Amino acid sequence: MNEKNPGGLEPFEICSIRPPTENSSLTFRLTRNCYWNKCAFCPVYKMGARFSRRSLDEIRRDIDRARQLDDWMLAGGIGMNGYTRADYGKLPGLAEEIRRTGRKAHHEARTQKAAAEIPEDVDPRLAWFISWFNDQPSLEDSLAHLLSWRMAGGETCFLGDADGLILKPEFLATVLGEIKSRFPSLQRFTVYGRTRTAARQRSLADLRSMAAAGLNRVHFGIESGSDQVLAFVNKGECSADHIEGCLKTKEAGLSCSVYIMPGLGGTARSEEHALETARVINAAAPDFVRLRTLEIFPQTPLEQAVKEGSFTECPEEQVVRELRILISRIDAETELLSDSASNLLDLYGKLPHDRSRLLKIIDGYLDLPEQSKRIFSLHARLRSFLGQYGGLPEDLYEILSPYARDGELDMSRCPNDTLEGITRTIRSRLMP
Ligand code: SF4
Repeated sequence: MNEKNPGGLEPFEICSIRPPTENSSLTFRLTRNCYWNKCAFCPVYKMGARFSRRSLDEIRRDIDRARQLDDWMLAGGIGMNGYTRADYGKLPGLAEEIRRTGRKAHHEARTQKAAAEIPEDVDPRLAWFISWFNDQPSLEDSLAHLLSWRMAGGETCFLGDADGLILKPEFLATVLGEIKSRFPSLQRFTVYGRTRTAARQRSLADLRSMAAAGLNRVHFGIESGSDQVLAFVNKGECSADHIEGCLKTKEAGLSCSVYIMPGLGGTARSEEHALETARVINAAAPDFVRLRTLEIFPQTPLEQAVKEGSFTECPEEQVVRELRILISRIDAETELLSDSASNLLDLYGKLPHDRSRLLKIIDGYLDLPEQSKRIFSLHARLRSFLGQYGGLPEDLYEILSPYARDGELDMSRCPNDTLEGITRTIRSRLMP
């Protein structure tokens, strides 16, 4: 550490919402929240979070805070011989020492205030989601964020929030330059983007300058290639935006990763959703296609559409049939990933090369008897839950314990509606 900061050290803002590949990245918020915020399925910023751009000074302050906290960790003996999970146990003491030095105890109060801001009448599922959204991190949160990044190798950085491409290229270049000079181990910088911004607001020269400044990859949530589906969910983008935005991004030398949302067409547009999404992927040829199956969150416009009867959720089997159509139709060279807890099947592979292997996985599920499909689904969701949270909360433990035998779950005698109910409860708590 250079010197202990007598003025006190504040936490820096982190991006709670980021791609799964950036879970262990160092993150900085260049904007806050989403200026569009109208997608019918999206619960992310619906609880009153307002979009804002952050000034260069604010961002610089966060970079500086992150640099100093990283130095504090090293000075506190964390990372002297490599970083381990055991180091998490040292963080509360370190945070306390930083507070003592800087007399900044008000951070705890600020964190408590943020948690208390969830209104009491909010649906428990949404409350669960919001509690995970850390808008005002504490010193401990900032330190844990740095430790997780260090443990993962310290090479990746995500710049949030929802659309990094709205930033002027010169602004982004300045930020990237400053981050790189303070964190020289960083090798990869990524942002979320909207295809409409890439297609209509940014020139090819703009995107090239971003790549030249060090940006490596853009993650686009395209969700669907069907213009009807995109209009229904109020995505504010069309398939032409998706194709042009992705092609331009790749031409600028940036890696292009897209998220698609199986199930988003509902029962009415299921097949069209799959066919049109395959069409867009073939035309846009993104480097990565990531699956993120639709989950309908409470208090979203899509949940309202379900209540009104204008949208009917696809059963799981129909979602899998969509995937079958999609994978059968994609001829572009791309990589398919199922890196979201919302997905039922593990579908990872290069397309079109791995098509037959991936179709075998799909057909293996589709050929199962009905009861076995339900049991398969429960186990898949349970694995995701344990992967995400590391254990079961008391209520889920109680629901499942009657079916535990010798440390294994035997659901074969569980009635179908109970099986479905348990699976739904687990799904409702997974972060997509
Ligand atoms: S653009 Fe992304 S963050 Fe914004 S509302 Fe749509 S899905 Fe949510």
